[in-house]
Amino acid sequence: MHPQLLGLEKTFQASPLTQLFSPLLEKKQIDLWVKRDDLIHPVISGNKWRKLKYILNHALTLGNHTIISMGGPYSNHLHALAYIGTLLDIQTIGYIRGEQPKKLSPTLIDIQNWGMELRFVSRSTYRELREIKQHNQLQDIKHGEYWLPEGGATNLALKGVAEIITEMHLKPDMICVPCGTGATLAGLIQAAPSNCIIQGFSALKGAGFLIDDVEQLVSQSIASTSKWGIQMQYHFGGFAKTTEKLVLYIDAFEKLHGIELENVYTGKMFYGLFDLIKTDEFKPGTKIVAIHTGGLQGKRKIF
Ligand SMILES: *Cc1c(COP(=O)(O)O)cnc(C)c1O
Repeated sequence: MHPQLLGLEKTFQASPLTQLFSPLLEKKQIDLWVKRDDLIHPVISGNKWRKLKYILNHALTLGNHTIISMGGPYSNHLHALAYIGTLLDIQTIGYIRGEQPKKLSPTLIDIQNWGMELRFVSRSTYRELREIKQHNQLQDIKHGEYWLPEGGATNLALKGVAEIITEMHLKPDMICVPCGTGATLAGLIQAAPSNCIIQGFSALKGAGFLIDDVEQLVSQSIASTSKWGIQMQYHFGGFAKTTEKLVLYIDAFEKLHGIELENVYTGKMFYGLFDLIKTDEFKPGTKIVAIHTGGLQGKRKIF
């Protein structure tokens, strides 16, 4: 690993496993732990560090001075990237979905303050950028610039995610994770032992394409034998959409367990997981680890 990254990694906290207790879990005899990747760094969101680590190593090793990526106005990915850019003295550029709003989101204000150059692009241009997957494939890319696709969803991301599994001191029957691009899910599939089921929960509506995307990411790496699937019905209307029911659920979860959630990813996963537990999808005695992927910065409202 590049010495600059090793130095940065020393500032990270361990990600503990916290067991949850509730009358429902007791009644259904489900052992549920949360892998607290939301706690690994005060600014850099959990799974975004996991995914960025070996990508950054690649970019730095190639001698790049600038990383260009893309995301929405609340992107946890760009937020993490911009902050790491200041720490490692790397220039960052972000293509932002949609026209420049009158009032920037708290995420965009942060990343601008950290020196990321914001380039607002139309939704159609954004869709085209999404198709660019290789680090040197962007049109007009200059020497020293490194292109990073949406969400950092590349093969190199999987290697960092795999460390979630090697850190865990218990052997769960199932691991649950929210999905955006599916790269975190793919990393877990690749690293999990064959008797462990990896269960994704899509944050997007109509996300059938995720299955192909994940399969493609996984097949580029070592053959994996673990079983996996994606729950598609807990999107609450679509990406970043929410309902009263979800808001109330998150509120109750936070009060009961003392763990903060947000309504784009982790809230939807826990809602879905508890729904499956309620409807007896799992045998008594099942050991489950749910990954808290972080993302709490995205909760902030525009003032
Ligand atoms: C980005 C993100 C995800 C989704 O990760 P993918 O690898 O894109 O599927 C899940 N949870 C949080 C909090 C995120 O920020």
